[in-house]
Amino acid sequence: MTADPIYAASKQGVLYILATPIGNLGDLSPRAVETLGRVDLVAAEDTRHSGRLLQHLGLQKSMISLHDYNERERIDSVLERLANGAHVALISDAGTPLISDPGYVLVREARERGLRVSPIPGPCALVAALSAAGLPTDCFRFEGFLPSKRGARKAALEALARETATLVFYESPHRVRETAAALADVMGADRPVVLARELTKAFETFYTGTAFDVCEQLKEDPYGARGEFVVMVQGASLKPEAEPGLDVDKFLRLMLAELPVKTVAKLGAELTGRSRNELYQRALTLKNDS
Ligand code: SAM
Repeated sequence: MTADPIYAASKQGVLYILATPIGNLGDLSPRAVETLGRVDLVAAEDTRHSGRLLQHLGLQKSMISLHDYNERERIDSVLERLANGAHVALISDAGTPLISDPGYVLVREARERGLRVSPIPGPCALVAALSAAGLPTDCFRFEGFLPSKRGARKAALEALARETATLVFYESPHRVRETAAALADVMGADRPVVLARELTKAFETFYTGTAFDVCEQLKEDPYGARGEFVVMVQGASLKPEAEPGLDVDKFLRLMLAELPVKTVAKLGAELTGRSRNELYQRALTLKNDS
C-alpha cells in the first residue's frame, strides 16, 4: 500500500466520504479501494448492496446502515467511533455520497465536533453527464430530483424557466418521458436538452437536440423509459429581444480590453440582458482570437 497523505497525517479517526461507481466497477479508484481496505467501519446507505461491492473487492468489513430516515439515530455511534480513533468510510449505493444521497447530517456534525472529514473523489452522475453533454458548463445549477407530482413539477420548472445557467436534474425512468414533455411545455419546444441514460454502462445513451426532439427520441426508443437518467437543459437565452441593435462583439472587445472574461460575461449579461454563458463563450473566442 502507498502512504496516503491524509491517512498518514491523521492522528485521529477520519470520516472518508468515498465515491463508488455509478455502474462501471472499473471506475472505482485505486485510492478508494485502498481506503476501503483500511477503514474500521463502513457506513452505507444499503449494507446489502454495498456488501456486494466489498465482497467483490475481497474485503470483510464491519458495516452500519445510514439511511435518511435513521441518519439522526445512527450518527451518534459513528461519531463516537470516530472520536475514539476509528477510520470510517461513508458510501452510498452509487456515486458520490451526499449528492442526492444521505450523509449531510453526519458530515455537518463531524465537522461541528472538530473531527476530520476527507473526500475520496470519484464518480458522480451529474458531473459525468455534464462533461459529455456539450452544453455550457461554466455555470450550472443542479436541482436534484424534481417533485414527483405533475403540478408541483410544472411549478418547479416554471420557477427555473428564466435561469441562464445550465440546469441539471436527476430523474427516475418511469417519469422521464413526462418530464421531457413538461420541459418542452414550460421551457419551450426549441430549448436545447440533453438526457444521459445509463452512464458508464453497456446501454449508455445520450439523447440530444431540442426538447421536442428529445421527447420524440424517447418515444421511439423501446428503452426510453428504462435505466437511470440525468436530465440537462441549456439555460435561458434572452438574446434577440434584449438589445436588438447592439454590436455584441464590439461591446465585448471594449470590455475585454479592461476586464477578465468572467467579469465581462457577468457584467455583459447584466447590462444587455443576454445569457451569461453565451457571452462567456463568445468573449473567450474573441480573447483567444486577439
Ligand atoms: N450520489 C449519486 C451521484 O453521485 O450521482 C446520485 C444518487 S441519486 C439517489 C440516483 C440518481 O442519479 C438516479 O436516479 C439517476 O438520476 C442518477 N444516476 C445515477 N447513476 C446513473 C447512471 N449510471 N446514469 C445516469 N444517471 C445516473
